[in-house]
Amino acid sequence: MSKTAVYPGTFDPITNGHLDILQRALKIFDKIIILVADNPNKKTLFSKEERLEIIKESTKDFQNVEVEYYNSLLLNFLKQKNTNFIIRGLRAVSDFEYEFQRALLNREVNQEIETVFIMTKDKYSYLSSSIVKEMAMFSGDVSKFVPKIVETKLKEKF
Ligand code: ADP
Repeated sequence: MSKTAVYPGTFDPITNGHLDILQRALKIFDKIIILVADNPNKKTLFSKEERLEIIKESTKDFQNVEVEYYNSLLLNFLKQKNTNFIIRGLRAVSDFEYEFQRALLNREVNQEIETVFIMTKDKYSYLSSSIVKEMAMFSGDVSKFVPKIVETKLKEKF
């Protein structure tokens, strides 16, 4: 049976850290759906259309990756896609509490849900979309941290 997992996030914008997690997840699952979602606690720099376009371009060389937008409960999206697997990336201990809480809550609602945590490469452990935006705002060089298209789009924004 082919196994699909959903990798949800804000991806504002996608970074090499996200792509590292995606690559690792593809070793475990047959297909990954990157789910662009809006986090009510985060105001995004890029619109959902921009984020979708950027992710599609950044993952065009990957096989078995789809990109979608959904702005409702993740668990409903999983049901629609007929899967119980969620991928999340872990950077540092600081991610743990939030992720732990969400994973347990999801499982409380549906016992079948499994959140699979994948640890990033150490060189990406300090990398976040927010840091990249901050650097770009002050004309810092972000080329080591993001795909080319993100670098270009950030230059257009600032
Ligand atoms: P969210 O608002 O849902 O946290 P993000 O786009 O910030 O959305 O993150 C999506 C997922 O990717 C989260 O699981 C986050 O921990 C993970 N992630 C973000 N940056 C990195 C990174 N540099 N290395 C590994 N995982 C990361």
